[in-house]
Amino acid sequence: MLMASIGHVAVGMALGRYEAGNMSPGRLAAAMTLFSLLALLPDADVVAFRLGIPYSATWGHRGASHSLVFAAGVALLAAGVARALRAPAARWGALTFVAVASHGLLDALTNGGLGAALLWPFSHGRFFAPVRPLPVSPIGAGMLSARGLYVVGVELLAFIPFWTYALWPRGRRQEN
Ligand SMILES: [Zn+2]
Repeated sequence: MLMASIGHVAVGMALGRYEAGNMSPGRLAAAMTLFSLLALLPDADVVAFRLGIPYSATWGHRGASHSLVFAAGVALLAAGVARALRAPAARWGALTFVAVASHGLLDALTNGGLGAALLWPFSHGRFFAPVRPLPVSPIGAGMLSARGLYVVGVELLAFIPFWTYALWPRGRRQEN
């Protein structure tokens, strides 16, 4: 299953740039890939459709895996891994939380499907933002349709600040 949610990749790449902007191109690419995967992680729940779990169920699409509690859990894991590797645990945990939590928040800005279960397990409600400017991605191979291309186009434009921050050439940006 494939989602046309390149906005999540934009956020992940920007976080990778933030984390590894001053490091070697290899480290930068690895950080961008890692944070993009973390930002996409909640959509691993599309496997629910295959398993016959309904969209609206707790473990259905945009359910528990899209919550802030889930993001906090993954962040704790990342902090634990960082600690084992003698890397800065608080920093890894915080950036991981932002990457995973951003997913449900972005999904809440889309104009279709069900909202994200941001407050699971405290609430099973599915939440949308008051303003929903992003078109919802088709699920599965629907991405290869005209509608899928339209969504990709809108997200390319909507996330220009993130692409720019992630990909702006190094020399021209002030380093800290
Ligand atoms: Zn999602």
